[in-house]
Amino acid sequence: MSDDLYDPYSKKVKGNALPENPEKRKGAGRFPSWLHRKLPPGPELFKTHAILKENNLNTVCSEAKCPNRLECYANKTATFLALGKECTRACGFCDINFDKTPKLPENDEPVRIAKSAKDLGLRHVVITMVARDDLPDQGASHIAEIIRAIRKENEKASVEVLTSDFSGNEKLLDTVLAAKPEIFNHNLETVKRLSPKVRHKASYKRTLSVLNYAHKSGKVPFVKSGIMVGLGETNAEVKETLQDLHKVGCSIVTIGQYLQPNKQKLIVKAFVTPEQFKDYERCGKHLGIPYVYSGPFVRSSYNASLLKDHAFKGETFND
Ligand code: SF4
Repeated sequence: MSDDLYDPYSKKVKGNALPENPEKRKGAGRFPSWLHRKLPPGPELFKTHAILKENNLNTVCSEAKCPNRLECYANKTATFLALGKECTRACGFCDINFDKTPKLPENDEPVRIAKSAKDLGLRHVVITMVARDDLPDQGASHIAEIIRAIRKENEKASVEVLTSDFSGNEKLLDTVLAAKPEIFNHNLETVKRLSPKVRHKASYKRTLSVLNYAHKSGKVPFVKSGIMVGLGETNAEVKETLQDLHKVGCSIVTIGQYLQPNKQKLIVKAFVTPEQFKDYERCGKHLGIPYVYSGPFVRSSYNASLLKDHAFKGETFND
């Protein structure tokens, strides 16, 4: 694979179709220069793909058409998507398919994820999930089972879970927390004013209380959350959001550019400049959040292993 500059929306790479550029479709020209990236070199990308395929696993990288997936796969990293690839919510920003009654969870999925994580040589395993409001425990026991399976297969690996809000049910949160992931992550996604539009089945307040509960439980060393920008929020609203995340005990926060995954989803209101992302990072750190990872291509799980290493060593993280 060449090292050419590529447009992350060009669908140039066969078998790794990337989302279309919504601005191009509207005839508004190309994306700003900072949203163009270099293709990652090397065969590792295909090896990662093969391991995931062999174990019949889903990743949020593919299902949500993450613009970083070529880079992450090339670095032998992926974020496993548990509990199927159909979600019972239909958030305004997300490309994952909606289904009110998806298939039942596969009992052997925890073991398959653990095996793939080992085959990929992951030192830090990131698991996310579709929201399963249809299941009696909303998938909490399945996530706990995955954490335990990873521990059994590779006791040295750390685990990060990026979960749904489990409708704010503390018993279900306890089920996940009892399996002791190193990082509990639940995304706030956007500022308070835009929350009903961006994620109509969740709420800003409930997400903060979920994060607060995880923090207060004392069962996880780090609580993490993330937001997207470019949805029409103001700088003051981002600052307020960072303040709220700090108050509930988040010590790792990610901030990235929202990109419209398909025509039906919310449109991009602004392409936030790298300088503005740096300002958000400074603002979060100034408020007392030790790890703020802010940049156009930052996603919840982007460089998660690196962030975790810094957090565990108490080192400053500067990308
Ligand atoms: S940033 Fe996260 S979701 Fe995107 S490709 Fe990388 S690991 Fe996957």
